[in-house]
Amino acid sequence: MSDESQELGITESKSHKPGEWYAEVVQKANLADYAPMGGFIVTKPRGYALWEAIQESLDGWFTDTGVDNVYFPMFIPESFLEREKDIVEGFDPEVAWVTHGGHDELEERLAVRPTSESIIAPFMADWTRSHRDLPMRLNQWCSVVRWEATETKPFFRTKEFMWQEGHTAHASNEGAWEEVWTRLGQYERVYEDVLAVPVLRGKKPEHDKFPGADTTTTVEALMPDGKSVQGATSHNLGQSFAEAFDITFADEDEKEQTAYTTSWGLSWRAIGALIMTHSDDQGLVLPPTVAPTQVVIVPIWQEDTKEDVLEYSEGIADDLEAAGFRVELDDRDERNPGFKFNEHELNGVPLRLEIGPHEVDDAEVTLVHRPDNAESVAGRDGIVDAVDEHLDEIFDKLYESAEENLEANVREAHSPEEILGTIGKHGGYVKTPWCGDEACEEVIKEKIAAEIVMQPLEDEGGSTAGEVPEPDHDECGVCGDPADEIAYFAKSY
Ligand SMILES: [Zn+2]
Repeated sequence: MSDESQELGITESKSHKPGEWYAEVVQKANLADYAPMGGFIVTKPRGYALWEAIQESLDGWFTDTGVDNVYFPMFIPESFLEREKDIVEGFDPEVAWVTHGGHDELEERLAVRPTSESIIAPFMADWTRSHRDLPMRLNQWCSVVRWEATETKPFFRTKEFMWQEGHTAHASNEGAWEEVWTRLGQYERVYEDVLAVPVLRGKKPEHDKFPGADTTTTVEALMPDGKSVQGATSHNLGQSFAEAFDITFADEDEKEQTAYTTSWGLSWRAIGALIMTHSDDQGLVLPPTVAPTQVVIVPIWQEDTKEDVLEYSEGIADDLEAAGFRVELDDRDERNPGFKFNEHELNGVPLRLEIGPHEVDDAEVTLVHRPDNAESVAGRDGIVDAVDEHLDEIFDKLYESAEENLEANVREAHSPEEILGTIGKHGGYVKTPWCGDEACEEVIKEKIAAEIVMQPLEDEGGSTAGEVPEPDHDECGVCGDPADEIAYFAKSY
């Protein structure tokens, strides 16, 4: 091993080699490792803690809005998958199959779930008898497997990934729409209020919606490298799944009716978006909302001041812990303060308190913000309130910087040359009038691998689908034909 500090630090640059830089941050900040099989990762304690923070927020909101958690088997009989032809077609190349149990070949192949609609829906059909059973809202936290043969990128592209999938049934289409918007709103909230990542919300174009869905809604986050991340999706499945799986109910007049269903999911890709958005060439940057350690105290002593500095630091650590902060006192003897600063920077601890003999003498504390190294001094007496305020400031800094990036990177274009040129030069989103023809997306996709990542909706959030607003210009930005929709093109993860 060479110089230890070299070994510890990030060597790649976020702006020049975002892919390599990302992989290095994930490994060196101890979030995840690569598994022996290609396409799989091992999530380490500090990485899993981020997932738990996301889970905790979302799961609480789900519970508050009538969702019950369940768990279904990870294997789905082939005949179940086949009951919904769109699901089979949509996932066909990505399904992993179990063909043997021990030494015996199975009579029927079992799919490792790529999503669970086809095993949950038959049970929802069984459990739904009357309109009084509706709405039924089920959610499961689990992993799914999609055998995509791509390069592994922790939390972005893995064959197995953690997620939650919600499945609901409703007596009316209006009820299904309200559900779709409730979940999309919760996804927006987890990105913006928990991860400090602003998002755009809208719907996917017809040709890119979830197999079998009427409408797929999405929240999209813009990464600093100019690519969009599909943050989470919420689907109105209409009656197609209910028809395929006989989810029917007796209405108030005892007449049999077919239910309307929805499904919605957020995966650990949210962790990828979090890392990519805020982190820098020194390593991981985390908002205090999810940071496993929010505050680290680094005492700085000489032999003759050690006892005083440590005692003072311990008192502060105790106060902060009692106030509910996640705090660590780094009193390791064998490391000098400079090494500790670098390590906690790499690990993304939002706030560092530096305490030396001067701080002890003056009854003060020096506070340093991880994102921009901003330094200030607070009195010992008000330290709990000061830390609280500084953590809020750090969150706001992260959010505002991401928001500026998003706002500066939505541009309009009105010809194929302009769309291609704008995305090629700046990345980000290009907003253009669109005729609705998939062929127009293909034209752009073939040239620079950018696609329509979303279409904005107006008047959404209620019991209807919402409308795509009319464009100012009425000619498709690609083919020039009449256009009455707006589309956002971007390269995406
Ligand atoms: Zn067109």
